[in-house]
Amino acid sequence: MKRLEGKITLVTGAARGIGAAISQAFIDEGAFVYLTDINDELGIETAKRLGASTEYIHLDVREESDWIAVTKMIGEKHGRLDVLVNNAGITGFEAGDLTHDPENASLEAWRDVHRTNLDGVFLGCKYAIKSMRNGMSGSIINISSRSDLVGIPGAAAYASSKAAVRNHTKTVALYCADQGLNVRCNSIHPAAILTPMWEPMLGTGPDREVNMAQIVSDTPLRRFGLPEEVSAVAVLLASDEAAYMTGSELNIDGGILAGSAASPKVE
Ligand code: NDP
Repeated sequence: MKRLEGKITLVTGAARGIGAAISQAFIDEGAFVYLTDINDELGIETAKRLGASTEYIHLDVREESDWIAVTKMIGEKHGRLDVLVNNAGITGFEAGDLTHDPENASLEAWRDVHRTNLDGVFLGCKYAIKSMRNGMSGSIINISSRSDLVGIPGAAAYASSKAAVRNHTKTVALYCADQGLNVRCNSIHPAAILTPMWEPMLGTGPDREVNMAQIVSDTPLRRFGLPEEVSAVAVLLASDEAAYMTGSELNIDGGILAGSAASPKVE
């Protein structure tokens, strides 16, 4: 028996990167995956690559009407949703706007990042709880970041939105428990996972190698992480093996949060 046999799952932002890897891992473990994104062309291509146990659906996590339509369709077809992964997220750097420090960032840029990273997770949790009520159980996995625990001078909205995701995860976990639902909600906190998200920050010029080397040297395990190393943990949280885990946070960061640059040196 596979670990997610027969589970009906939905992954947001799944056309590429960590979301695509989670979708692949879920399928490998026997789940059916609704692979969703705003990048329809790539989403359709990725779903095709992953095979028969998946279907691509357009879902913009910022749009409540999209959530209503998608969860209604899944409810009508399957009568329940077993797993939601709120994975879609942006840094704000994608559109070429590099000004995200707390003094100079525009209110519009601040709101844009929060709309995707925080409103998207709020809406996902809201409609997942409603869908999971039918089966009285489920697993919601929110992809936060290690940035939720530290300040980032150049990415204020990203850090703030991910911190809020961490906290909202615990509120959802407690709410579902209070309601007598067996709906668990946990967060994953990756760092430095090599995906297309990094491209605008690494650049293409001569600085790219230097930027990459800097990140690697700041990471105790001295390498970038792989999307598959995140999806392995998502499989655990989605599975019944994690039945007693709710409101918890799991770091996947090569050891970054275990210490700091200011750690005392023992002679
Ligand atoms: P990628 O940028 O590689 O993939 C994100 C996907 O989400 C893209 O396909 C993107 O589409 C899509 N997307 C963007 N906005 C929306 C939206 N409004 N609704 C639905 N889909 C959307 O990112 P990663 O795979 O690296 O990151 C996945 C998650 O992991 C994010 O939440 C990120 O913050 C988090 N994370 C990643 C880390 C890393 O090192 N990679 C570290 C810490 C956290 P499009 O291309 O059209 O924008």
